[in-house]
Amino acid sequence: MSRNKPGRITFAQMRGLVVDVLRARGHRLRGGSETPANFEIQTALLAEGIRIDGFGRHLMREAMVALGIPMQPKPAAKAERKPRMSPRPPQKAPRPATPVSPVSPATPDFLMTYEWRRVRMIALKRDGAKCRCCGATPADGVRMNVDHIKPRRIFPQLALDPNNLQVLCEDCNHGKGNWDMTDWRESALLRADT
Ligand SMILES: [Zn+2]
Repeated sequence: MSRNKPGRITFAQMRGLVVDVLRARGHRLRGGSETPANFEIQTALLAEGIRIDGFGRHLMREAMVALGIPMQPKPAAKAERKPRMSPRPPQKAPRPATPVSPVSPATPDFLMTYEWRRVRMIALKRDGAKCRCCGATPADGVRMNVDHIKPRRIFPQLALDPNNLQVLCEDCNHGKGNWDMTDWRESALLRADT
């Protein structure tokens, strides 16, 4: 657990501010990975006519007061610090839940694509060749359509989503325009229950 409250100046920040000022005044202090030792800072302060006994936070606090440094962390101090961990490798874009058609779903050509024919078969196998609206089957002399519940022209991203498909007979499908998004599957299930 950190003893430093958020926004409170840390010991390292105080030391950094003190060292910056002393270096700006021409004092040679070790740098790099070796931070100046307390006695080096005290020696430099003595040369400035400032005598501070004690170490650590006390030394830095007194030095800041004596040098007239406000008790605020350097705004850039945090931003300059390099992240300890190496940056994450670029991640692959998440795979979309439903494949995207290579052909615009809004065009008639979409119905000729392999992707559409494949997902159409999935829907037919799942639902059976029975109209979800009126219950007609090919035995009744009707053609079966696989319908987009949410129209592919308005919801192209759902054009290949099996959950957006229902089997309708041609007559029912033609009665259904882009304005109608009735999902007949639920009522078909209800009918099957009663
Ligand atoms: Zn029908």
